[in-house]
Amino acid sequence: MRHDLAVYPGSFDPFTLGHFNIVGRAAQIFDRVIVSVAEDSDKNAMFSPEERFEMISKIFHGSKSIEVDRFQGLLVHYLREKNCRVLLRGIRTVSDFEFEYQMALANKTLNDEVETFFMMTEGRYSYLSSTVIKEIARLGGDIGTMVPQEVVQYVRSKYQV
Ligand code: ADP
Repeated sequence: MRHDLAVYPGSFDPFTLGHFNIVGRAAQIFDRVIVSVAEDSDKNAMFSPEERFEMISKIFHGSKSIEVDRFQGLLVHYLREKNCRVLLRGIRTVSDFEFEYQMALANKTLNDEVETFFMMTEGRYSYLSSTVIKEIARLGGDIGTMVPQEVVQYVRSKYQV
């Protein structure tokens, strides 16, 4: 299994500057980072898996070290398929920690070779979540400083803002 590769899985509904920051920092540590859209993650997602995959692909278009992918089913199966043992996750708050802690232990139980690496958010992104962004957009607020430029169009198309 490779150690120079990390998989960053998530719903990314939509992808935010908080996610972008984690990916950029991880790419300085690992030779290759795969950002992978969890297709089964949330039945009530605003963006389809195709849209999420497409918006993230646009953001990282041309990058040699960052790849965009999508997966279904168990994350540990996907990691094995990619021959990757490093699972990357971001942490903002204590509530994130509780959830991530459970998931990391569950994944470790399912596959002992998998190691979850946590990266703390940078302070200025600590309030950013996909949910907050959707709420601001729904109420007509400007999300231009919260998501990559490529994502703004996708959110606007849903809310006509
Ligand atoms: P999931 O549904 O898998 O939690 P998300 O798209 O909500 O997917 O988040 C993917 C990962 O990114 C999670 O580990 C989450 O804690 C982390 N994350 C989300 N927003 C931020 C942020 N602003 N700063 C750092 N990490 C974040």
